[in-house]
Amino acid sequence: MSTHNQDVSLECEVAVVGGGVMGSSAAHYLAEAGRDTVLIDQFPLPHSRGSSGGHTRITRLANYGHPALTAIMKDSFDQWLQLEHQSGVRLFRPAPLLAVGLNSSENSAPALDNVKASIHASGGTPEALDVATTNQRFRTSFPSNYKAVVDPSAGVLMADKCLKALQNLFINNGGRVLDGWPVTSIIPGKTVELRGPKGRVRAQAVVLCPGPWAGTLLDSLGVQLPVRTEKIGVYYWKVRDSKTPAFTFIDLSRPENHFYALPDYEYPGYMKVCYHAGPQTDPDERDKVDMSAIQRKAEEYVKNFFPCLEPKPSVVESCMYTVTPDESFVLDRHPLHHNLVFGAGFSGTGFKIAPACGKALARMAMGLQPQLDFSPFGFSRFNRSKL
Ligand SMILES: Cc1cc2nc3c(=O)[nH]c(=O)nc-3n(C[C@H](O)[C@H](O)[C@H](O)COP(=O)(O)OP(=O)(O)OC[C@H]3O[C@@H](n4cnc5c(N)ncnc54)[C@H](O)[C@@H]3O)c2cc1C
Repeated sequence: MSTHNQDVSLECEVAVVGGGVMGSSAAHYLAEAGRDTVLIDQFPLPHSRGSSGGHTRITRLANYGHPALTAIMKDSFDQWLQLEHQSGVRLFRPAPLLAVGLNSSENSAPALDNVKASIHASGGTPEALDVATTNQRFRTSFPSNYKAVVDPSAGVLMADKCLKALQNLFINNGGRVLDGWPVTSIIPGKTVELRGPKGRVRAQAVVLCPGPWAGTLLDSLGVQLPVRTEKIGVYYWKVRDSKTPAFTFIDLSRPENHFYALPDYEYPGYMKVCYHAGPQTDPDERDKVDMSAIQRKAEEYVKNFFPCLEPKPSVVESCMYTVTPDESFVLDRHPLHHNLVFGAGFSGTGFKIAPACGKALARMAMGLQPQLDFSPFGFSRFNRSKL
């Protein structure tokens, strides 16, 4: 239902604001549970203005974040495979993850140890590699103070297909989509009223997954989420060494080296290598910021460590992260209005965990507890509210 010029007046059990991967996942699980649900997005779907656009994302068991994520990542990993089965569309393509860090005398050794422990905890078998084997197998050129761990279960989620699969399953279960409809105000109550430029949607519960717009939307409800929107440069590099295997990659050596890479599953013959941070931007004016320093940094990195690639990117795209101060997401209820729940601030790592997060949000909107432990990701850790 695309409604650009029509007046809207809808009633439903649950409204989900945000048609990115989080909102689409929550909407899917709500419709699957038999709830009359409307999925709302400000732009006509699909679009590339948020954080879920593009073709590929890394998924893996290896966890280098909060320990509670190990179970959330494992559960999501299994649910993506289940969604693949349900939708009949190939959503996951295997590609082992190469995680590199500095060797034991330097500060990233614990990060690699955590990676190994989380793979074990998820039932996988990590492989520890010395730098010579790493460089030979992956056609890289890391120096001798590096070491590596391989997560053989990792791979690539075909992001646009994942989004479409979630939305199709939602619609097949009776869900309604209202796109091209920005929610301009939210009036809390036993029945929540969402107002747009034309008309209104009334719901018994609302799930908010507004991505880069989370700061503004939640602030209007008295919830001051300390999030920052960053523009991320997405760079594709032509593969010049035909022996380069298909692999995913993350550098945990130092914050300034926090690059990641994906194989050429998106554009054949081009690997994606990106820096995991970018300049702050307004989500409504994303492309006003200057990306030249980030691109230079990426070129330097590829020149130093990826001799298998040409040293200049052939294709440049962009996307946005919504980053919290501790780079962990927030998944919670509104402190006063418990029929308003929200998931935001996924800090550039949310795609892989969208099934578990969406299911948790769906359960919370139905008045149930999440099945997994999301307590470390509550809003109260930032202790900010105008309420
Ligand atoms: C370049 C890049 C690479 C990434 N790589 C990975 C990776 O390898 N692995 C991984 O797990 N994650 C990765 N991520 C992160 C992941 O993609 C995001 O965490 C995830 O997509 C966030 O989804 P979302 O639904 O929260 O936000 P979005 O996709 O931004 O969705 C929010 C939606 O809300 C809508 N909206 C906002 N306000 C309103 C309003 N007022 N009314 C109506 N609609 C509204 C927006 O239009 C938008 O469609 C990457 C992100 C980027 C940008």
